[in-house]
Amino acid sequence: KDLRSPICCILGHVDTGKTKLLDKIRQTNVQGGEAGGITQQIGATYFPIDAIKAKTKVMAEYEKQTFDVPGLLVIDTPGHESFSNLRSRGSSLCNIAILVIDIMHGLEQQTIESIKLLRDRKAPFVVALNKIDRLYDWKAIPNNSFRDSFAKQSRAVQEEFQSRYSKIQLELAEQGLNSELYFQNKNMSKYVSIVPTSAVTGEGVPDLLWLLLELTQKRMSKQLMYLSHVEATILEVKVVEGFGTTIDVILSNGYLREGDRIVLCGMNGPIVTNIRALLTPQPLRELRLKSEYVHHKEVKAALGVKIAANDLEKAVSGSRLLVVGPEDDEDELMDDVMDDLTGLLDSVDTAGVVVKADTLGSLEAVVKILRDMYVPIKVADIGDVSRRDVVNAGIALQEDRVYGAIIAFNVKVIPSAAQELKNSDIKLFQGNVIYRLMEEYEEWVRGIEEEKKKKWMEAIIKPASIRLIPKLVFRQSKPAIGGVEVLTGVIRQGYPLMNDDGETVGTVESMQDKGENLKSASRGQKVAMAIKDAVYGKTIHEGDTLYVDIPENHYHILKEQLSGDLTDEELDLMDKIAEIKRKKNP
Ligand code: GDP
Ligand code: MG
Repeated sequence: KDLRSPICCILGHVDTGKTKLLDKIRQTNVQGGEAGGITQQIGATYFPIDAIKAKTKVMAEYEKQTFDVPGLLVIDTPGHESFSNLRSRGSSLCNIAILVIDIMHGLEQQTIESIKLLRDRKAPFVVALNKIDRLYDWKAIPNNSFRDSFAKQSRAVQEEFQSRYSKIQLELAEQGLNSELYFQNKNMSKYVSIVPTSAVTGEGVPDLLWLLLELTQKRMSKQLMYLSHVEATILEVKVVEGFGTTIDVILSNGYLREGDRIVLCGMNGPIVTNIRALLTPQPLRELRLKSEYVHHKEVKAALGVKIAANDLEKAVSGSRLLVVGPEDDEDELMDDVMDDLTGLLDSVDTAGVVVKADTLGSLEAVVKILRDMYVPIKVADIGDVSRRDVVNAGIALQEDRVYGAIIAFNVKVIPSAAQELKNSDIKLFQGNVIYRLMEEYEEWVRGIEEEKKKKWMEAIIKPASIRLIPKLVFRQSKPAIGGVEVLTGVIRQGYPLMNDDGETVGTVESMQDKGENLKSASRGQKVAMAIKDAVYGKTIHEGDTLYVDIPENHYHILKEQLSGDLTDEELDLMDKIAEIKRKKNP
């Protein structure tokens, strides 16, 4: 069997211990350097099978293991983004993922997001239930297997573990995941395996490595067979002194050779170029050498490698890299490689928000989440926020205020666009945590909607009544001005008034109290009121009660949607007004 090394990613909520766990796995802590040969690669760490053998020795007491794969490639940058980027036409190039959960915290927001992401990609994963050393009174045995360490804990520690574990099992079930401690898991395809770990003491880390091997070797050997064709993804685009713009690539299948003609997705169209150099970092011990990198004529999957070549400036992270073989049609490959991006760009709506992201994987993730939230998207693109994006958002803004937003994930705003933004009402959401960006956007939308509702509510004419105070007439007509007392509700400038026969008498033109102009007056207030079109002694009389003439459509809105915002007194008055109007126009 010629199996290649499986590729492993690590995900989870912030501060659950992803970085620390990676560090612990990487550590050649075994005395005497038995676990040597672990090599730092570009964006990944490679564990040769001998290192894994040494690190999982403590497992021998419990489990058997064969060692068929040449090693394990663990992606160094933890989090959504590198996982999202390791994709090929929607499927995952990462063979197995570790979802880290803090045993003290249980499922958190990004844990749930990670579960969704893993499910979307149909990626197999295990759960590392991390920080077991924080269980009260845990007695640590560094780098031990979980089962042995656990057996040596006190009753109280075991009970605390059991109760936290059960609770998390329940939380996972709420997300639709059945789970089981890995050594009790009889059905690995139905139940997610949980490995308790501590990134501080190293306990459970042998179990984790053992399980990764077990799952990949036994259940994915087909995916791990060497195929001649190249499968590679761009993790990052970076400028490196002496090499210009380079791309960091995870080669998950096949070979890459110096001089290979490669095709990749660029922001302004396909990029076709030749590999000038294949680079991996110098082994740690030899850091004093002149060059930071080792050159290779040829590299073999799976590994992380830096590629130097011309014209890589516009390369899109997260996109595939194809090699032009002797029988391949270059144009066809160019179309192929652009499909990933154009597929996303084509699915946009006519009106909606502008989305910018730094990589194809993160753009996909943001677009997916927005779609799940039913947020329409007008532009979805890779790269910094440009003036064109601001113009686009400005057009969308005219359609609806909630579309006047730019969601910028892990990208900058170019200065000319920043200026334009400042002079507009467009809202910029910028950051590098997807869920936080989404939260901020949602909150903003909620604010706008509340404001809209408030304005709309204010525009609805509500019930109120006034009494024309006798002997307080200042002017008979054009407009009629006199003292009034508000009997019920709030009377506002512009409200139409009627008498108790339902006859229209005029509208509130203005109100004054002690020389001050008022827009509204409420129950009990006495003000001087100018009523347009009314005439004292003819259409209105001292002592009369006048009512707000609520238009029919406003009445229905009040009745059906806003009755909760009115007092009982106002509701009664509304019924009375309706009755007066019904009498007038049966
Ligand atoms: P990340 O955000 O998921 O990468 O989390 P980090 O690896 O940066 O860890 C976050 C914090 O938790 C740091 O202070 C770590 O030292 C601590 N931490 C991580 N793993 C463990 C663990 O297993 N036990 C304990 N006690 N602390 C841990
Ligand atoms: Mg970290």
